[in-house]
Amino acid sequence: MKKEYCFYCDAKITKVSSVGDHFPISKMWGGKITVPCCESCHDMKDRVLLEDWPVSWCVKIIDDFPKLSRETRLFLAKLIRLMPDIQKRSIAKKIMVRKNNKSQYSLFRDD
Ligand SMILES: [Zn+2]
Repeated sequence: MKKEYCFYCDAKITKVSSVGDHFPISKMWGGKITVPCCESCHDMKDRVLLEDWPVSWCVKIIDDFPKLSRETRLFLAKLIRLMPDIQKRSIAKKIMVRKNNKSQYSLFRDD
């Protein structure tokens, strides 16, 4: 059986365990291209609400920002800006509680 690696977490997956993920355009928007994806990552991307993501994941996103290219940082910042307010507030609160650092919170504010 051919082994592939999850596009998101790099875990080894087999054709049987791969669920495939429509990327970069979601199936909902007519995307036809898929990448190998483990079930756990697929759940986190498509089934778990962003506001239900673990706090540790939200903190990791902020910690990883400096490692990303300018283009990727701006793209992600733009996506965060477009997120519904309720999700932004939920994530911002989690980060504030966890790190008690207002500069982290400012990354998620519109104003
Ligand atoms: Zn994965």
